[in-house]
Amino acid sequence: MEFRKNDLVTLEIEDCGIDGEGIGKADGFTVFVKDAVIGDTVTAKIIKAKKNYGYGRLMEVVKPSSYRVEPKCAFARQCGGCQLQALSYDQQLEFKTNKVKGHLERIGGFTDIPMEPIIGMDELFHYRNKAQFPVGRNKEGKIVTGFYAGRTHNIIENRDCALGVSENKEVLDRVISHMEKYGIEPYNEATGKGLVRHILIRYGYFTKEVMVCLILNGNKLTKEDILVESLREIPGMTSITINVNKKRSNVILGEEIRLLWGQGYITDKIGDISYQISPLSFYQVNPQQTEKLYRKAISCAKLTGKETVIDAYCGTGTIGLIASSRAKHVIGVELNRGAIKDAISNAKRNHIHNVTFYNEDAGQFMVEMAEKGEHADVVIMDPPRTGSDEAFLSSVVRLAPDKVVYVSCGPETLARDLKYLTKHGYRMKECTPFDLFPFTKHVETVCLLSKLHKRSIM
Ligand code: SAH
Repeated sequence: MEFRKNDLVTLEIEDCGIDGEGIGKADGFTVFVKDAVIGDTVTAKIIKAKKNYGYGRLMEVVKPSSYRVEPKCAFARQCGGCQLQALSYDQQLEFKTNKVKGHLERIGGFTDIPMEPIIGMDELFHYRNKAQFPVGRNKEGKIVTGFYAGRTHNIIENRDCALGVSENKEVLDRVISHMEKYGIEPYNEATGKGLVRHILIRYGYFTKEVMVCLILNGNKLTKEDILVESLREIPGMTSITINVNKKRSNVILGEEIRLLWGQGYITDKIGDISYQISPLSFYQVNPQQTEKLYRKAISCAKLTGKETVIDAYCGTGTIGLIASSRAKHVIGVELNRGAIKDAISNAKRNHIHNVTFYNEDAGQFMVEMAEKGEHADVVIMDPPRTGSDEAFLSSVVRLAPDKVVYVSCGPETLARDLKYLTKHGYRMKECTPFDLFPFTKHVETVCLLSKLHKRSIM
């Protein structure tokens, strides 16, 4: 049967798509329904119809699934941040495990995957140490801050996101009331006018330090000193800065930072390594779970202290710095100049001397290493969601390290890249998914590959 836009259909949700949406069938017509949970019977309104499938808006849960839970956040459906708030945590973990396994099977062609149980979180809320709140006016003209609704730039007012730290609300309340009191205009994307664009807040989980950075479409705020006095009262406040961004684009931060009060950065720890984090630095948003992920990556490599380890796509050097105490030498390579600068200063801060960082394309760097006939015992790679490339992977094969540890935030590209490596002399030994972002569709994975030696191939 064919369906048209605005038709109402009743469906049993039988599956879960890669974005966490429910999938059901009505007379052979497949419908993808955001916010529907596997096991639900729902009524959905068709919002887009193709020949054999369509997309539906959830109108009513006729019979709730046993996996359905009450979302903690009142804005769970509108907000673009969470996709799985109505799904029990066990099922979220199941969804993420299946997502990794499914991609490895379909894209990678793997069978008998050595899957380890997924590593989830114990405390599901307030795990994010960073939030960037857009500021604007709502239809009634009131100044609002919160999050963009899914796929739009409409701001949903929410100063107390369940994934963020409780300090966020206090900061936002004080900044917004300062704006109201002194008639400071929020930025308007449509006209390019107005001053306050975003409020960036970062929190040190280990140190409990708080940083606020106001992103302005201008250089100065009215009565800056009064706002500083107010923000300083918040426990843990360490740094208050202004970032100037006058560009009409979606990029949140500009390049210029002006210190209003404090030291201009916060510090935090992952494992034993301490990091200095400024408004522009890259830093993992869930450091507690990141530590588990990186520890796993390093323990997979079974380092003895004698190895040369490559930390490819190293960002601010986190993996390499943690691994350095168990390796002879770590070589980090990363494309982003700012991240490499931070990596070098992190090494200095922590008195680590056996790590060398290079600011280069990882593929190019590996090609050069292979051409020079250099040696590496272990390659740890943590590429972006788009994965690695053939220049990199083919050079890994030429360098022939005993172990490759692939840390991935994109299961599709993980599957594609592992297919290449396993066709060229490596075998997958272990695959562990990690949940770094409860309530979202995202999943990270650590995969260990080891080199097949000639004897074991024969
Ligand atoms: N392990 C890192 C995070 C890795 S995220 C950390 O803990 O900080 C992926 C990194 O790959 C990003 O820092 C990104 O800048 C970098 N990157 C993307 N393309 C690259 C390339 N072609 N060569 C080297 N690095 C690249």
